[in-house]
Amino acid sequence: MEQWISDNLDKAAEIARLGLCDRCLGRMFGKLGECMTNDVRGRMIREALAENGIEAPAEEFCPLCENVFDMVGRFAEAAAEKVNEVESDNFLIGTKVEPEITKREKDIVAEHGLENAEGIKSELNREIGKIAILSIRRPVEFKNPQVVACVDTRFAEVELDIAPLFIAGRYNKFSREIPQTIWPCRVCHGKGCDHCHGKGKMYPTSVQEIIGDVAVGMCGGKEHFFHGMGREDIDARMLGDGRPFVLEISDPKVRNIDLEELRRRSDNDLAAFRDLHFVKREAVERYKGAASDKVYHVHVIADGKVNKERVIEVALSFKNANIDQRTPRRVEHRRADLVRRRRIHWVKADAIGEDSFDLELETDSGTYVKEFVSGDDGRSVPSFSERLGMPCKVETLDVLAIDYHEG
Ligand SMILES: [Zn+2]
Ligand SMILES: [Zn+2]
Repeated sequence: MEQWISDNLDKAAEIARLGLCDRCLGRMFGKLGECMTNDVRGRMIREALAENGIEAPAEEFCPLCENVFDMVGRFAEAAAEKVNEVESDNFLIGTKVEPEITKREKDIVAEHGLENAEGIKSELNREIGKIAILSIRRPVEFKNPQVVACVDTRFAEVELDIAPLFIAGRYNKFSREIPQTIWPCRVCHGKGCDHCHGKGKMYPTSVQEIIGDVAVGMCGGKEHFFHGMGREDIDARMLGDGRPFVLEISDPKVRNIDLEELRRRSDNDLAAFRDLHFVKREAVERYKGAASDKVYHVHVIADGKVNKERVIEVALSFKNANIDQRTPRRVEHRRADLVRRRRIHWVKADAIGEDSFDLELETDSGTYVKEFVSGDDGRSVPSFSERLGMPCKVETLDVLAIDYHEG
């Protein structure tokens, strides 16, 4: 007789007398004796008991598991069928067990002080997985599975939990008429009403939808979510190398999509995409948290005739200048009214005409550029208007660069 059995013979007799099936009997001592299934473990215990004159046969209907293990083959088949409907690099089996059964198991373990018992769920996961893997042909992944097949053992039903897919890249926005992300109607919140002409949203499309709809189609996914590294105003273009973002696709049935094809099919007159690559979920927080100083290009209209030399002088005077910006009137309703200190790194004037000019400028992230130019009725000081001695206003704004260092 093996040592672990003789050491536990009294307890084994107690448990065997409950009439448990071989698997359940073995599982109550699951951490003892190496390299065997609970089934074999249970049979060995029963034989050892018989050798010692203790007759404790299994009941036909196991009072603990209700013979759920007879169904393992069917569970595995159902799980494999579901998993094989989707493409993934790995998978994991999970189970939902009748709460009555897990409670009974807990009670037995507690009552008899079974320190080496294994839980029924862990055995079911393993035994279903062993059979399912033969037709799934993908490795099992415990830590970050792409697909979890959850078997409800009460109804032999399988639900798939598919990990979302994350695609990072950079986008350009060439239109001053579309937002970065989908903008639900503020009246109906997406249901469709008179205010939004039944569309459920305020703008016909967005950077998010332009790439997201294509990606959802290619992945057979459900929804898309867009995580931009900051955002520009709707009427601002995003030029230069573009703004980093992560696109999230929920419930993807296909993961290994061709990103070059995604780029080609998404690019249009309104937006373009580049550097598309797959990232892990963790990238989302990193992208959202990264600080991003920006370079802007603005076209400015002055309220009068401008002096070319004076514009250049004022532009130079803002080299490494601190400015104090009270929350602008236009965002007052959604942001706390505070004074924030920002630094203007440099300003270059260009294309100076009769009553208009262009500025290119680099600022701290979070600088309100339009208000820096206009002064926002004294809420932003000093301002370009103030130093030029003439009211000026930004007519168009483009973001040229996002300062982002991966790492
Ligand atoms: Zn059982
Ligand atoms: Zn609406």
